[in-house]
Amino acid sequence: MRVLKFGGSSLATPRRIAAVAEIVARSEDPVVVVSALGGMTDALLAAAAAAEAHREDALDDLEAQEQRHLAAATELATAEEREALEAQIKAAFEELRERLHGVSLLREASPRTLDGVLSFGERLSAPLIAAALRARGLEAEARDARDLIVTDGTFGHAAVFPAETEARLRRHFAADRPLQVVTGFIAATEAGETTTLGRGGSDYTAALVAAAVDAEALEIWTDVDGVMSADPRLVPEAATLPSLSYEELMELSHFGAKVIYPPSVQPARARRLPLWIKNTFRPEHPGTLVREETAREDAGEGLPAAKEAGAGPSPMPVRGMSSLRRSSLLRLEGAGMVGVPGFAMRLFGALARRGINVVLISQASSEHSICFAVSPGSEDDAAEAVEAEFALERRAGLVEPVVLERDLAMIAVVGTAMRHNPGVAGRLFRALGDAGINVHAIAQGSSELNISLVVAAEDEADALNHIHRAFFPTARPSEDEPAAPSRAPSVRRSFGQPAARICLAGVGGVGRAFLDLLAGAGTGVLPGGPELRLNGIVRRGAGAFDAQGLDPAPLAAFVGEGFPGVAADEAYDLESRVEAWARETG
Ligand code: ADP
Ligand code: ASP
Ligand code: MG
Repeated sequence: MRVLKFGGSSLATPRRIAAVAEIVARSEDPVVVVSALGGMTDALLAAAAAAEAHREDALDDLEAQEQRHLAAATELATAEEREALEAQIKAAFEELRERLHGVSLLREASPRTLDGVLSFGERLSAPLIAAALRARGLEAEARDARDLIVTDGTFGHAAVFPAETEARLRRHFAADRPLQVVTGFIAATEAGETTTLGRGGSDYTAALVAAAVDAEALEIWTDVDGVMSADPRLVPEAATLPSLSYEELMELSHFGAKVIYPPSVQPARARRLPLWIKNTFRPEHPGTLVREETAREDAGEGLPAAKEAGAGPSPMPVRGMSSLRRSSLLRLEGAGMVGVPGFAMRLFGALARRGINVVLISQASSEHSICFAVSPGSEDDAAEAVEAEFALERRAGLVEPVVLERDLAMIAVVGTAMRHNPGVAGRLFRALGDAGINVHAIAQGSSELNISLVVAAEDEADALNHIHRAFFPTARPSEDEPAAPSRAPSVRRSFGQPAARICLAGVGGVGRAFLDLLAGAGTGVLPGGPELRLNGIVRRGAGAFDAQGLDPAPLAAFVGEGFPGVAADEAYDLESRVEAWARETG
C-alpha cells in the first residue's frame, strides 16, 4: 500500500479536488488521508470564537462554507449520488449550527467542545473526496478515523495510544475493502469522545496509518514542490531539497517549517518508511524524498566511490533552516550558582511541573548564568515559575531577578553532515557578523545536527537570507547586470523586504491595464517601484490563487471569459484563501 495525504490547500476548489482524484487514480494500491477543505478549519475556529463572544454574525461565514461544500458536491459527485451527498452536507451543517448555538448560549467553547466543532471539517471533506473518486471510476469509501485512532483526553492536542491505534488500524486494513478515504486530524478517546491531534495533524494521521499497515511509502501532497531549504515566504532564494534524512526533517519541522507536522516524522522513521513530500499542482516534479541513505549520499557521504577517492568534506553541510517567530529568552544568573550542583535540575523541574516546553538551553562553562527559551506564549509563565522556585536564593542575594527578553526570533540551521565539517559555525557567524546582525544566544548540541541561534525578531528575514547565501549556491545576478531594485548588493536590509503581494479583484479597464503593466515588466518589478508579486486574481465565476505567485503574462493576454487553464468556479473564494494565507504569514 501507499498512503497518500492531501492537505487543505490541495482540496480548496472542485478543480483541485479533481486533480487529486487524478493523482490517486494513477497510484498503486493507495490509501488516502485528507484534511478539511482549505480554510475550513480556520473558519470553524473563527465561528466558535464568534459564538463564544455571542456575536450575531457568528454563523455568517459558515453559510459560505456550506455553499462551497454543496457546490463541490454538485460538481464532483455522479448524478445518482449528488442528492444524498448534498443532504449529508446539509445535515452536517445543521448539526454544526446547533452546536454553535449551544456555545453561544453558554458563552463557552471549551477545548472539548472545540474539538467537536473542528471535527466537522474532515468529516465533510472525506465523503466529498470519496464521491469524487467514485465519479472518476474508483471504488472508494469514506472512513471516519475516530473509529481507528485512539487518544487520551487532551483536547486540541491529544496524545495517541500507539498500541491500541496500531491494532485497530491493522485489523481494519487487513480486511478486503474498497479504497479508503480516511479523515485526517480527528480521533477519539476510548470512551468515544472526539479529539484532534493538533493543527496540521492530518500529516500525523497519515504517518500512523502508513506505519501500521507497513506501507511501501508515505506521500504528503501539498502546495509546494517539497521541503525547501528555507521558508520560501521569507527567503526568496530557497530551493527544493531533493532529499533529507528523517532527523533533518524532524529538526526543521520542530523549528517551524510548516510543511510537515513534526510528530509525523517519528512513525515513518521508526519503520524506515520512505516519505515523499510532493506538489499536488505539479505532480511531475520529483519532490523531496526523506530516507536515510539518499540523504547521506546527497550530502556526499557514505558513497563508496567518494570514500575511495578520498573525498573531502561534504559540499552541502547545511541542508536547511527554519525559524520560530515570537521567541523570548530567559536568563537566570547569580554568583550563588557557580559550582553548586542541582541548579539546572531545579530550574527545569520548575518549568516541567508547569508543563512549559523548553526549546533552547545555553550555559557557559563559568556557570554564572543559564539562558533558555520556551515555546512562544509561555514566557511569562516561565518567568513566574523560576522566580517562585528561587525566591529564597533571591532574598539571600544568591541569584538576580530573572531577565526576560522578548521580540526575538530563533533560527535553526540543520544538516547531518555538519558533524564532519569543521568551519560551519565560523561561516555561519561570519555571514551574520558581516551583515551587522547581533546574535543574542547560541546553542549547539554535541550531535552537531542543529545550530540554533537567537536574533532580534526584526532581523529574522535578514539573518535567514544572509545565512542562506553563505551555504547555498545561488543564481546571483552577474556583476555587469544591474541588480533588480529589491536585490541590491549585499547591504544590510537588502533582504527580506517583502515584495508587495497583489490580489487583483476584477479585470475591467483598470485591472487589465495593471495586468498589462505587470506582464510587460516581466520580472514583476515596475520601473522604480518595489517588487510586485501577483498572488491572486478573481473575476466573475473564476479565480486563481497561488502563494508562490501567478504568471501575469498569460492572464493579461487572455481576452475571453474566465482565465486560461482555470475552470469556471462560481464558489471560488479568494477572500478566505487570502485570509488564511495572511494569517499564516502574519
Ligand atoms: P497543507 O495544507 O498541504 O497541509 P501546509 O500549509 O500545512 O500545507 O504546509 C505547506 C506550506 O509550508 C507551504 O505552502 C510553505 O509556505 C510552508 N513552508 C514553511 N517552511 C517550508 C519549507 N522549509 N519548505 C517547504 N514549505 C515550507
Ligand atoms: N484541517 C486541520 C488544520 O487545518 C488539519 C490539517 O490540515 O492537517 O489544522
Ligand atoms: Mg499542513
